[in-house]
Amino acid sequence: MSDAALNERNANERNARGEWSPGKPIALAPINTWPPRPAVTFKWLFGFPGYIWPYNGFWLAFAALTWTFLTPNLASMATFELWWVGLLLARNLAFVTVLFGGLHLYFYVFKRQGDELKFTPQPVSNNGRRFRFKNQVHDNIFHTLVFGVPVMTAYEVLTYWGFANGYLGFFDMGGSQIAFWGWFVALLFLAPVIHALHFYFGHRLLHTKLLYKPVHALHHRNVEIGPWSGLSMHPVEHILYFSTVIVQWLLALHPVNALYQIHLAAFLPALSHSGFEKLQVTKSFDLDGGNHFHYLHHKYFECNYGGSLTPLDKAFGTFHDGTEKSHAAMRDRLRARRAALS
Ligand SMILES: [Zn+2]
Ligand SMILES: [Zn+2]
Repeated sequence: MSDAALNERNANERNARGEWSPGKPIALAPINTWPPRPAVTFKWLFGFPGYIWPYNGFWLAFAALTWTFLTPNLASMATFELWWVGLLLARNLAFVTVLFGGLHLYFYVFKRQGDELKFTPQPVSNNGRRFRFKNQVHDNIFHTLVFGVPVMTAYEVLTYWGFANGYLGFFDMGGSQIAFWGWFVALLFLAPVIHALHFYFGHRLLHTKLLYKPVHALHHRNVEIGPWSGLSMHPVEHILYFSTVIVQWLLALHPVNALYQIHLAAFLPALSHSGFEKLQVTKSFDLDGGNHFHYLHHKYFECNYGGSLTPLDKAFGTFHDGTEKSHAAMRDRLRARRAALS
């Protein structure tokens, strides 16, 4: 697409407030459609860019490289010692700083994409008063690095310690190597689904009266979002959010399954909170960000608790596909809820 065409697309689809939306309803992943659409699903799975590569495969390769080159030997992690816990913390701080910081620099400091595919013209650090240091980005970095990464690392530390001592991954699958590696691969495929399911239900829990104000409201101070907003959470939310790895503690036979699960939770929010529909890598190649899905959750609070991979929001009546019709349905739902409460 030429520059002129891109600018035209950008300008045409902004409303009077300058907000941009993709101009078409948000679609769930094709595995959720009934009757099944095998050709569309196949392309979604194996196409490029697609579900397998790079959206999940990239993070799987990253987890494999991390395990191979940047993780101490499992046997050496059987007892808690400062050197290896510190090493994991330092490398996780480096990973998160490079990814989240890199995207922030790309989108908001060097503005490499300008306003192309950006949902709102508002700057990220608008309404600084409600943030720590009166600055949204500094606040978000603080919560991510001071609380988020240590909680992520604590789960990783417990994972290796558990595996090293035989407290985790103790099934022997009858000694069958085929069964062992078959289960290993099956869990790799399941990891993004586990992430999506756990995120949806955990997120609904965070929106209950008990947890919203004291815990989750901190994440929602970010009405306008940027990459650093992704893991900017109350520490209790970090503990709940990263507890997705407990599913792997119960099921996995190999620590890499758990590491991959932690990495998905840690790294996916960077792009899904970018505030842009896509990361435009080149003129003809782009990567999906949040697909407008999570942006609408930050804008309206009461919709889109999960993601587009599972049909849970649709099933529970909380799906907002970005259209006027969907918006009216959300307003009706909230009105009915208020009436029921009064
Ligand atoms: Zn969010
Ligand atoms: Zn929320």
